[in-house]
Amino acid sequence: MSISVIFSDLREADSEVFEVIAKEEIRQRTTLNLIASENYAPKAVLQATASLMTNKYAEGYPGKRYYGGCQFVDEIENLARERAKKLFGAEHANVQPHSGTQANMAVYFAVLKPGDTILAMELSQGGHLSHGSPVNFSGKFYNPVYYTVSRETEMIDYDLVRDLARKHKPKLIIAGASSYPRAIDSKIFREIADEVGAYFMFDMAHYAGLIAAGVYPSPVKWADFVTSTTHKTLRGPRGGFVLSKKKLAKKIDKAVFPGAQGGPLMHVIAAKAVAFKLAMEEEFKEYQKQVVANAKTLAEELADQGFRIVSGGTDSHMVLVDVRTVGLTGAQAEELLEEVGIVVNKNLIPFDPNPPRVASGIRLGTPALTTRGMKEDEIREVAKLIAKRLKNPESETVKEEVTRKVRELAEAFPIPRGFEF
Ligand SMILES: *Cc1c(COP(=O)(O)O)cnc(C)c1O
Repeated sequence: MSISVIFSDLREADSEVFEVIAKEEIRQRTTLNLIASENYAPKAVLQATASLMTNKYAEGYPGKRYYGGCQFVDEIENLARERAKKLFGAEHANVQPHSGTQANMAVYFAVLKPGDTILAMELSQGGHLSHGSPVNFSGKFYNPVYYTVSRETEMIDYDLVRDLARKHKPKLIIAGASSYPRAIDSKIFREIADEVGAYFMFDMAHYAGLIAAGVYPSPVKWADFVTSTTHKTLRGPRGGFVLSKKKLAKKIDKAVFPGAQGGPLMHVIAAKAVAFKLAMEEEFKEYQKQVVANAKTLAEELADQGFRIVSGGTDSHMVLVDVRTVGLTGAQAEELLEEVGIVVNKNLIPFDPNPPRVASGIRLGTPALTTRGMKEDEIREVAKLIAKRLKNPESETVKEEVTRKVRELAEAFPIPRGFEF
């Protein structure tokens, strides 16, 4: 159904906002989205997000609210919590964090005092702002020490993690990243944390869908806390959650509310419950397998086209590409690709000589294109289009040809039934 029918009330009440949403819809339909942190949420998730659960205040937790009339939001939150626990095999789940950053904030509030030391992956190596970046609250309130990848393998240097942990005695060790394509060994992190008496938090924001489907190693058994978003590979609504060991349940719940947030977004929690349910289905497992197969194909084809792939490949949904191999910066590559309808983000690569706004790499992800039904053959074609555009930045003929082929691919693989709204 067209959005002017579904959103007819919105169109009538506010044509300005409606028109912008309509333009965004066209953008999402007609471009190829390779942003590794994005996806298309199923219509069932969109409907729950758009539901009147948004009207309800529910500070507190099921059975212990600050407001009357909470019997049905209690039911929803219990469903979401139970499904999250089942999906990931966790002892406890808090589904209230508004985002991945809020989930991390809650863990810090649960076990740290201002000034405490945290050990995390450096932002420029693949870590996240909320892991102690100086421009983020986490770097202002706490004392971050950073580990990096090894220069040779571009994979996490576990010996360095151990050395830094012994030297700085962090209270919390963080694993998980935004632009690290490889599998992360949570068992080693657990051992290091135990040796120095630290808590171990794994931020699976990027990998959650893969982990739910069993195609990426699960940190749940090893970590004290597992934080996540719901809107990346997990393909749910924009939001966050925290899993923890039972003995830390009280601490984390108090840290989320009243520690870090006010009233929960009950419409989003309803949508999280839907996403967790869908993630238990066989179809989701098949989808995630394809996501990883597609990412591996993307890395292989781009390597064949002469690009240097950071760490030599991928174990996940993302590929980090060093675009200096074709004489470009990440910022230039992002722009060249956007002009032809391929949406990516510039990204720092390990030990990047360029500042973040310029960067030497681009980060590519396959979750969104895989939701659109693309398999290895189409991904290879996309990789060839990327290579063609980036190797011929001055050519108008190439620009036109790639633009046309992108449009054709987008038309051949529309946002599928069950994902449009
Ligand atoms: C995306 C991401 C987050 C933050 O998620 P927001 O919902 O944008 O706050 C946290 N940690 C990692 C590793 C991420 O990739």
